[in-house]
Amino acid sequence: MPTKTIRSKADLAINGAPPAFDEPLHVGRPNIGDRAAFLQRVNQILDNQWLTNNGPMVQEFEQRIADYLGVKHCVAMCNGTIALEIAIRAVGLEGEVIVPSWTFVATAHALYWQGITPVFADIDPATHNLDPAAVHRMITPRTSGIIGVHVWGRAAPIDELQAIADEHGLKLMFDAAHAFGSTYKGQTIGRFGACEVLSFHATKSFTTFEGGAVVTNNDQLAEKMRLMRNFGFHGYDNVVHPGTNGKMIEVCAAMGLTNLDDHADVIAINIRNHAAYTNALSGIPGISVLVYDSTERNSHHYVVVEVDSSCSVTRNQIVAALQAENVLARKYFWPGAHGMKPYSDIFPHAKLLLKNTEFVADQVVILPSGVAVTVDDIATIGAIIKQTVEC
Ligand SMILES: *Cc1c(COP(=O)(O)O)cnc(C)c1O
Repeated sequence: MPTKTIRSKADLAINGAPPAFDEPLHVGRPNIGDRAAFLQRVNQILDNQWLTNNGPMVQEFEQRIADYLGVKHCVAMCNGTIALEIAIRAVGLEGEVIVPSWTFVATAHALYWQGITPVFADIDPATHNLDPAAVHRMITPRTSGIIGVHVWGRAAPIDELQAIADEHGLKLMFDAAHAFGSTYKGQTIGRFGACEVLSFHATKSFTTFEGGAVVTNNDQLAEKMRLMRNFGFHGYDNVVHPGTNGKMIEVCAAMGLTNLDDHADVIAINIRNHAAYTNALSGIPGISVLVYDSTERNSHHYVVVEVDSSCSVTRNQIVAALQAENVLARKYFWPGAHGMKPYSDIFPHAKLLLKNTEFVADQVVILPSGVAVTVDDIATIGAIIKQTVEC
């Protein structure tokens, strides 16, 4: 068992040693594109005086996203969670829906918020994605569907999940919040299942401040979601469907259009950073960086480090050591959705069926990446981890 004591923030204060970084280095610092181009678009919006309600920026944004992903429809929304909620309703999920617990809690909340029970299935510890056999085990007569999540931008086992859905007459959709621009067997994420849901939150690799979208090749589904995101309005005065307010505003679309122009550069920096971390952490006993499949595209936005039981210190000690040096590493998605309210009350014994989720949740550290992080920063972070493990 790891027993070492790592210097804590309190020790630092006592010793008076300054942290390695003057400014905190956060996970999920925004990747902001060309500021002048963005401000020019904002001026255009103000000149147009068309601020929201399917304005020209949103229309252009939807077209560019659809083209980029090679899908027929992009329905832009105010955020990824509302996009999930609307997609869940439009697809017609009800009763119980199988999801991973190893995801951001919004996947489960979007169901629960609508009176649907999220049922958690375990993951494959090698990929962190849903294990199809575990999904199969969680099917009951109340199950209406499955929401797969492409965790860390790596595609879920789509073909296997589709086969289970087909066999049992279940609906299948995907939370693709991490997977903008990722591929599955060489095909861009966005076309799979009934629909796929994107998030453009500030912490994601591609941002519109807040924002999200549902992408699909299904004409009827896209039409239904367009109605639902705007109170069910079809033209003026004519409400033909129940709905909510899920609209993306023009300023967000302007941010998206700007960042889309720079997205390839962001990915290149993330790939460079990921390789630098792999290099900086190689050879440290018990520490490894989660590897992405080199034959698929992945934004490499998430640098996922696993601290296994052979390491001389625990995951929590490493996080504490990094935080003491102003590196604000995170334990995403610890403890897993099943360990959060209300799910820990509804399913007090869920952990018994989620062995791999529990195992992974205790191992993972997410390190800062994105355009704000340099190769020098990564060398320093590597040195902190090395010292923590080897001291
Ligand atoms: C970020 C995220 C969401 C929610 O998206 P928001 O735009 O923040 O509402 C949903 N699912 C996953 C897996 C996410 O990472």
